[in-house]
Amino acid sequence: MKQLHIVLIPSMAQGHMIPMLEMAKLFITRGLKATIIATPSFSAPITKAQSSGLEVGLALTPFPPQGSSLPPNIVSFDQMTNPDLTSKFLRAMEMLQDSVEAILQDLRPDCLVSDMFLPWSADSAAKFGIPRLAFYGTSYFSRCVSDQIELRKPFNSVTSDSEPFLVPGLPHEITLLRSQISPFFLEESDNDFAKLFKQMNEAWKKTYGEVVNSFNELESAYANHYKNVIGRKAWEIGPLLLCSTSDKNQQRGKESAIDEHECLSWLDSKKPNTVVYVCAGSVATFSQAQLRETAAGLEASGQNFIWVVRKNKEEDEDWMPLGFEERVRNRGLIIRGWAPQVMILNHAAVGAFVTHCGWNSTLEGVCAGVPMVTWPVFAEQFFNEKLVTEVLGTGVSVGNKRWILRESEGVERDAVARAVEEVIVGGGAVEMRRRAQNYKEMAKKAVEEGGSSYNNLNDLIEELSDYVAPTKQDTN
Ligand code: UDP
Repeated sequence: MKQLHIVLIPSMAQGHMIPMLEMAKLFITRGLKATIIATPSFSAPITKAQSSGLEVGLALTPFPPQGSSLPPNIVSFDQMTNPDLTSKFLRAMEMLQDSVEAILQDLRPDCLVSDMFLPWSADSAAKFGIPRLAFYGTSYFSRCVSDQIELRKPFNSVTSDSEPFLVPGLPHEITLLRSQISPFFLEESDNDFAKLFKQMNEAWKKTYGEVVNSFNELESAYANHYKNVIGRKAWEIGPLLLCSTSDKNQQRGKESAIDEHECLSWLDSKKPNTVVYVCAGSVATFSQAQLRETAAGLEASGQNFIWVVRKNKEEDEDWMPLGFEERVRNRGLIIRGWAPQVMILNHAAVGAFVTHCGWNSTLEGVCAGVPMVTWPVFAEQFFNEKLVTEVLGTGVSVGNKRWILRESEGVERDAVARAVEEVIVGGGAVEMRRRAQNYKEMAKKAVEEGGSSYNNLNDLIEELSDYVAPTKQDTN
């Protein structure tokens, strides 16, 4: 069989780049050739992987692209902090099409795996007569919930934000509040993100299928629903973080802001399952008031913790309660900046994960077998919360009720303390941990030879090998 060459195009956020690199590694370990098209600020982990012997290709495309009105220092999603920057950023992402197509012209791959936020890539793939696989980087569960909300608008059945509505047509009875879903669902808006979402839906019509960073045993009812009820072609081939054979301490995303040995020896000094790890991913932030409440809640919980505070908050630490660090000196570690998350989660001392429910983090929690406190902020995070707390039964909600673009606020200290205690020492903690450990085992099996994800990738490779581009007649 001819060796297939897959080109992967992530978008400019750690949560999109990290799993794409892992997917490229997986393809390579399964005998395919893989090249990533990346912007310079996201290329470091790829060049590191290359220098440690991985034969992954890298094609750079400048960002912001030439002619863009985006300031040159704005290079990733977390910097889209106001509507003007957002608008320019999204436009700059559209402008990547020409340089990406020039690279494709040169590489002539057999398949394109491209990020959800690059809908034009469906046209690019068609130009070169190759299939495009979309990567949404989330769960089947959230894809199914989004689909139902978009299609059936069940939020119209309630008159207030505090009244739950049922998301119809799903394998489980899932309810949400109107305040927990993105305003893009609620309003007929023509803002930049709303336009992008429309383009993404249009692009799906020209997209061959979807690769999903999940495994069947985790959410089989939703994988089936997505493929057989909604009727989309999709392959769950993850968890990608378990697929790559690379050394576990290899850099994921950015460089750690803490010396990893120091972090490990701090963890070594704690008893098993006694530390809660708190991190809201790479984009969400906490308001100053929310940081203060979180600190007070962690202190009141009486539990050990590692808390990741995003670097941009470092300049101004007015939020920190007076004497806080001193009082929690022996049981609390604050990491300011980027944490070695997977390393921490997999340490025996870690007994729970307070997560914003970004899908990568959620899956990393699943693979580490730890119960979670779910604290969604925006995007599809409120949907992933439901999967963890109501379908998997491996976590408790902190009780956030409000979707706010990026910045969480309004969760009180008592709610933080209660949820943390509940997952570490509460009555249901042992059972939650048992379930979480069970999913961890299933995740490992899924990616082993003969496992469900392993087999799904075989099927996908076979299908791609037989791919014949549709003729004009087929598409008319
Ligand atoms: N991450 C990390 N250290 C940090 C913050 C985040 O390693 O301090 C990683 C995390 O392990 C995950 C990714 O960044 O792989 C974040 O992706 P996720 O989907 O969880 O959330 P997002 O940042 O996209 O909201």
